[in-house]
Amino acid sequence: MSRLVVVTGAASGIGAAVRRLLEERGDRVLGVDLEGTEVIADLATAAGRDAAVAAVLEQSGGAVDGVVTCAGLSGVAPALPHVNFFGTTELVAGLRGALSASRAPRVVVIGSISATQPVDQPLVDALLAADVAAVTAATAAALADRRPQQLYPSSKSALAQWARRTAVSAGWADAGIPVNVVAPGVVLTPMSEALFGDPRMKKVMDAAVPMPLHGYSAPEDVARVIGFLLSPETTHVTGQVLYVDGGAEATLRGSTHF
Ligand code: NAD
Repeated sequence: MSRLVVVTGAASGIGAAVRRLLEERGDRVLGVDLEGTEVIADLATAAGRDAAVAAVLEQSGGAVDGVVTCAGLSGVAPALPHVNFFGTTELVAGLRGALSASRAPRVVVIGSISATQPVDQPLVDALLAADVAAVTAATAAALADRRPQQLYPSSKSALAQWARRTAVSAGWADAGIPVNVVAPGVVLTPMSEALFGDPRMKKVMDAAVPMPLHGYSAPEDVARVIGFLLSPETTHVTGQVLYVDGGAEATLRGSTHF
C-alpha cells in the first residue's frame, strides 16, 4: 500500500536518498526544503515552519503516514539551532493531527553521533524549553565565547532528548505514533564535503567519530534504516536513538552505556 511521507531536507544528501528509497518502493513523498521540493519553506524561522505545516496539510489533504526530518545545518551559523531543533519539533507537532489520520503513522528524526559530544547546557535547556529568545541569546553567547563548535552537538542532543520525551508523552505512543531518532556517524553528503576538503579537519573528524565497521557511510545506508523505522511492520519501537555510525557510539561510550 502506497504511503505519503513528508521529508524535510529532501533536496540533498540523506533526505534526497530517503526520497529515492521511498519512491522506489511506491510511496509518495512531500519534500520540504529551501528549493527543489514540493513545499518550499525556510525552517529557520517560525513563519517558515508555520508555512511548511500549512502547505503540507494542503497538499496531503490532512493525512500523512510518515514524517522524516532531515533538514539541518552544520558549522557555526546563528540559524543552526533553529533549523536543527525547531525545524523538527514544530513541524512534527504541527503534523500530529495529520499523522493520527494514518493507520500506521511513523516519525523519524535525524540526530547525530555529535549528540554524544560536549554540549552548551544553557542552549540545550533553552531549546528544550522552546524559549526562542533564550535560544538566540545562548547561541550568541556560544559564538562570542569561542564555543561555536558546541552549537551542532547541542542542537542534536536537545533533539534526541525532545524525541525521547515526546515519544512517551500523551498523544504520541498512546495514540499509536512512534517517534524515533536515527543518529548517523559521518555520511558522505554535501554537508560533510567541506570537512573532507581540509586535511586538518578530516583528522579531527576521524578521531572524534571512529567508524570501524565499513567506515564513512553513504546517504543510502542511512536511508535504508530510516525506511525500516517508517514501515508499518516496525510496530513496537519508540523513543529510541538508533546509531547508524559504523560502531562510533559503542567505541566512544563503551559497553556500559546502552
Ligand atoms: P545536506 O546539506 O546534504 O542536506 C541538508 C538539507 O537541509 C539541504 O537540502 C538544505 O537545503 C536543507 N536545509 C538547510 N537549512 C534549511 C532551512 N532553513 N529550511 C529548509 N531546509 C533547509 O546534509 P545531510 O548530510 O544530508 O544532512 C541531513 C541531516 O543529517 C542533517 O540533520 C544533519 O545534521 C544530519 N547528519 C549528517 C551527517 C553527515 O555526516 N552528513 C552526520 C550526522 C548527522
